[in-house]
Amino acid sequence: MRIVFIGPPGAGKGTQAERLIEKYGLAHLSTGDMLRAARDAQTDVGRKAEEYMSKGELVPDEIIIAIIGQRLAQPDCQGGCLLDGFPRTIAQAEALDALLAEKQTPLDVVLELRVPEEELFNRLAGRGRADDQPEVIRQRLVAYRRQTEPLLEYYGAKSVLKSVDGLGTVDEIFDRVVDVLDNVKES
Ligand code: AMP
Repeated sequence: MRIVFIGPPGAGKGTQAERLIEKYGLAHLSTGDMLRAARDAQTDVGRKAEEYMSKGELVPDEIIIAIIGQRLAQPDCQGGCLLDGFPRTIAQAEALDALLAEKQTPLDVVLELRVPEEELFNRLAGRGRADDQPEVIRQRLVAYRRQTEPLLEYYGAKSVLKSVDGLGTVDEIFDRVVDVLDNVKES
């Protein structure tokens, strides 16, 4: 299966993604993790990305699209992948469509994890990552609303979007997501 996981920062995508890749045997492609690794390794891409990440802004599309293009070409993605935190803009979604069309491996489902904004702020403020400072959190939520939320309409129009309530325990949310994915697999 090829799955895109969409949700605002703090929705719990990372936690659910860890469980899902294990259950379904998928490669986990988290662009946030890739960028943090590049930043920690002090590569050119990492240094450039950090200028945006530290402010809670999105890294430019061309950087992200190049990273994901290379990653998708690796053999472990052939058994299916979970894209976590990518795409985050319409331009990225279009680039992904083009990459997948080339390989004739379309997306099976786009999963939206829905969490109200007040709840997100509380969750993020309790997490302690470098970009979890209040001002940066606010900016990341703004970036989500402005740049990423339009993807819901984009994927809704392609009839691949499924939304899941992201409130509750990790187990409850996992069960909801698994229900959706098992239905997609059967159809
Ligand atoms: P995340 O761990 O997914 O919350 O990502 C952390 C930060 O990395 C974001 O706030 C962005 O600055 C950057 N980032 C991650 N994925 C993307 C993406 N697909 N497009 C642009 N920036 C991204």
